[in-house]
Amino acid sequence: MDSHGRWRHVHQAVLMTLAFGVLTHALPSCDEASMPQVPSGSGAPRCGLEGRVVLQVLGSGGPIADDGRASSSYLVWHEGRARVLVDVGGGTFLRFGESGARLEDLDAVAISHLHADHAGGLPPLLKSGYFAPRRDPLPLFGPSGNERFPATDDFVKQLLDPEVGAFKYLSGYLDGSSLFPLPVTVVDAEATTPSRILDEGDLAIDAVGVHHGTIPAVGYLVTVAGVRIAFAGDQSADDNAPFVAMAEGADALVMHHAIPEGADQLAHLHATPEQIGETAAQAGPGLLVLGHNMRRALDRRDASEAAIRASFDGPLTIADDLSCYVLAP
Ligand SMILES: [Zn+2]
Repeated sequence: MDSHGRWRHVHQAVLMTLAFGVLTHALPSCDEASMPQVPSGSGAPRCGLEGRVVLQVLGSGGPIADDGRASSSYLVWHEGRARVLVDVGGGTFLRFGESGARLEDLDAVAISHLHADHAGGLPPLLKSGYFAPRRDPLPLFGPSGNERFPATDDFVKQLLDPEVGAFKYLSGYLDGSSLFPLPVTVVDAEATTPSRILDEGDLAIDAVGVHHGTIPAVGYLVTVAGVRIAFAGDQSADDNAPFVAMAEGADALVMHHAIPEGADQLAHLHATPEQIGETAAQAGPGLLVLGHNMRRALDRRDASEAAIRASFDGPLTIADDLSCYVLAP
């Protein structure tokens, strides 16, 4: 199903991840043969060096632990530097280190929504930042809230507030007194018109609200050195015209393969493969990357591919943890 061409995987990382998945499911006991072989963080290959602008999938899975994949997280590399981190699901901490990325290189962190498999990896990453030689502010973007979800600034306060924060010992991020500042910008998840939330030099980030059931959620378009990468996040196919318009002609479009074709009872939360194909056909990306690959969907990947191919005939790939896609040589 993978499409090759000018996009290239780092095969070593992909094969490692496949081996990890197979071993995890075939040999659940903790004997020596079942121990996954993972690279150490130091000296790990940096896929960012593969090309000028590279999309790396840190976590290619969803919220279920025994799917054998880290939860959602993506890196946009530019000239060997990890510039933007999109989503910080569980497992980001480990995959970020394995990727060779450095916290001091990041220009922004953008969270699509506050489900744990998209935002729950933030505290451990911030703890790691305690040891990073960074002093510059790190802008953090995320959605507004509703009665069931905090707005992103409240989410960060609930984690870091010096009085009531769960991780108050990391409260230095709020005022920059002892740690680098973490300025939070709340993105209106109800917005139906894309807005530019960051515009600095060769980097721009646009955002627009997307439909993910009753959960406030946003989609992002990251533009680095003229290369445009659209991140759908979790979204159903409802009211997705603003996102499709924002993503039109992107060099890569990342969509989430969370449900198999025919799982219509979940379609209020996630796009079905058929709807992924229709969305991609409308947006016309240079490459369609499937992330958030849940086992229930992967078990029927042939049906997913057929459903997507009913509408979309461009390059298509299913990501694994640490997969890399070179978008500009
Ligand atoms: Zn979600």
